[in-house]
Amino acid sequence: TETVLSVRDLRVAFETRRGTLTAIDGVSLEIGRGEILGVVGESGAGKSVTGSAVIGLIDPPGRIAGGEIRLGSERIDDLPPEKMRRIRGRRIGMIFQDPLTSLDPLYRVGEQIVETIRTHTDLSAKTARARAIDLLTEVGIPAPERRIDGYPHEFSGGMRQRVVIALALAAEPELIIADEPTTALDVSVQAQVITLLKRLCREHGTAVMLVTHDMGVIAEAADRVAVMYSGRIAEIGPVAEVVRAPRHPYARGLMGAIPTLSDTAERLTQIPGSMPRLTAIPPGCAFHPRCPNVFGRCRVERPEPILVGGTRVACHLYDARGEAA
Ligand code: SF4
Ligand code: MG
Repeated sequence: TETVLSVRDLRVAFETRRGTLTAIDGVSLEIGRGEILGVVGESGAGKSVTGSAVIGLIDPPGRIAGGEIRLGSERIDDLPPEKMRRIRGRRIGMIFQDPLTSLDPLYRVGEQIVETIRTHTDLSAKTARARAIDLLTEVGIPAPERRIDGYPHEFSGGMRQRVVIALALAAEPELIIADEPTTALDVSVQAQVITLLKRLCREHGTAVMLVTHDMGVIAEAADRVAVMYSGRIAEIGPVAEVVRAPRHPYARGLMGAIPTLSDTAERLTQIPGSMPRLTAIPPGCAFHPRCPNVFGRCRVERPEPILVGGTRVACHLYDARGEAA
């Protein structure tokens, strides 16, 4: 498949009075056309920061301190803000936990979708409205010819997130960044929304970075998974390997019990201990104080990602030949 997003050795740093804190430290990933990459980990792992870096929305004092981000063949991590603003919305769509981050409560949903379509295409107002109705139909809004003139507050949480998906797709973006898109929804509608997102992105050939703490969502929707810990990727590869037969000890802990979408209890905390603060990342492997497999080398030497089977794993248990040591 054609690569839509390619992130190489990304570093994100925050300047503080106590010095430079590294929030993202050498993240590399790629997402192909029509593919969903799940990015998972405990809170503070750097999942959202990675997504924000891709859309050029890291707030100062944060900054991209190294590496590169490419959308198709174009490098986008060093673009002027004005150019990046045009890429957001047109080439990169965004879906956040709270639909009202994307929807303006003062405007009818149809106006917002039509405006997005017209900003990014040269369609007439009438054609854009017809296109908006098609999009609302595609995302499963009942009676779209009537609901297009409704205001965001007139939709339920699940329907509102469907409208946001329609809005994100309106400009036919190459990539969608979805950050906890179903976390605020009732459990009963989470599965419907995630299934919809998956189907539409396949149909439209849109690449998706799906940021979530929810393993049920990952297992349901993702093609590949990146497991993040302390600003690095512990393991990345196909769902079939990372979720069903994880190699990294942290990934094994996360997958210990994969909740289904009807059982989305917070399971990530079952690994004893917690993610280190940015101010106190342990030397060597950042996971070593919590790792059941820790050995001498782990405390001093940082594991670099290596290819093992179909996944990249950053753990000293796997030697350079890619075999379990
Ligand atoms: Fe555990 Fe060592 Fe692997 Fe880190 S490098 S995950 S401490 S075995
Ligand atoms: Mg987050």
